[in-house]
Amino acid sequence: MSDNHHHMEHPENDEAYKGLTVNAGIEQPASVNPYLVRRKKRELTVPDYVEGIVKGDVTILSQAVTLVESLKPEHQAIAQEVIEKCLPYSGESIRIGISGVPGAGKSTSIDAFGLHVLDTYGGKLAVLAIDPSSERSKGSILGDKTRMEKLSVHPKSFIRPSPSAGSLGGVARKTRETIILCEAAGFDKIFVETVGVGQSETAVHSMVDFFLLIQLAGTGDELQGIKRGIMEMADGIVINKADGDNLERAKLAATQFKNALHLFPAPDSGWNPQVLTYSGFYNIGVKEIWDMVYSYMDFVKKNGYFDYRRNEQSKYWMYESINEQLQQSFYQNPKIEALLAQKEAQVLNGNLTSFIAAKNLLDTYFDDLKK
Ligand code: GDP
Repeated sequence: MSDNHHHMEHPENDEAYKGLTVNAGIEQPASVNPYLVRRKKRELTVPDYVEGIVKGDVTILSQAVTLVESLKPEHQAIAQEVIEKCLPYSGESIRIGISGVPGAGKSTSIDAFGLHVLDTYGGKLAVLAIDPSSERSKGSILGDKTRMEKLSVHPKSFIRPSPSAGSLGGVARKTRETIILCEAAGFDKIFVETVGVGQSETAVHSMVDFFLLIQLAGTGDELQGIKRGIMEMADGIVINKADGDNLERAKLAATQFKNALHLFPAPDSGWNPQVLTYSGFYNIGVKEIWDMVYSYMDFVKKNGYFDYRRNEQSKYWMYESINEQLQQSFYQNPKIEALLAQKEAQVLNGNLTSFIAAKNLLDTYFDDLKK
């Protein structure tokens, strides 16, 4: 820079400012570290995401999943486009739901299952989760991916904890969308894990080809705690921790489950749900479980049930998606947000019936939409 230039930068140096001189100061280097290139991180475009995913780039896949999980409308818009473009590349997989109460041994088992399946059948495995606990308590039972020690460092695996924000329906939709992205990225085996505490099983069941229920031998009343509906969903029931002192009790539990299953009507698949015992920790009986899963896949692909179930699921998800987004639009409407507590209080006071309160709120919402 010339001296002349410095003078121009300081108007005080003009003749008009008598007796005042401002010095030029020390010239700053352009960059302290000449090797550091400052570049604004470029936002990925929809084609960037799709190309990266289809190439199997796990970093880009992760970023796309983050968009799917984001609540920001601008992220959702990109995510929906990416999902749509990935859809033609998806579907070529087997999807397995894995459920069990906390402590049943899901992490231990999925670690063993995952290694077995990758060793035996090759391909790539994505492990996703639906964890209803994270919604209520922020704490997540299934959140920590290091729970699967070996699988989490396996080059062919992708482990993603449960999306945490929103209703169970919203969380489930995001997991389903993530399945599509994972499949487009070449993951041909998908595990969806959930905690066996109620409704989340239904959500998982609605997005998988095979629903595996992990059980433990208990005190002789194995069937007491487990809901009939959940047992009816199972394509396979596996009794874990069939090792050491527990072996005989596990076998007994298996017999009880088998007997109980006989009382249920035959499932639509034509497949008779099987009951097996195993030990995830000692890796005993794991092969037999996956032989069962793969023979189920053969069976239902031949008899047409595999495609039927996937079609039914697509239909179900269309309606779920509509319901979920209508609800979200309603409850996030500012007029509704402002009015909801008041109407609720009026219902509780007995000043308004539930039906009139609901009608008032819906009228407010629909009027607001027309504007
Ligand atoms: P999760 O809560 O369902 O994910 O269960 P974990 O995989 O964390 O297992 C809960 C506990 O059971 C841990 O202490 C495991 O070491 C233990 N465990 C898991 N699988 C087995 C098994 O096959 N045999 C035995 N004896 N213990 C197991």
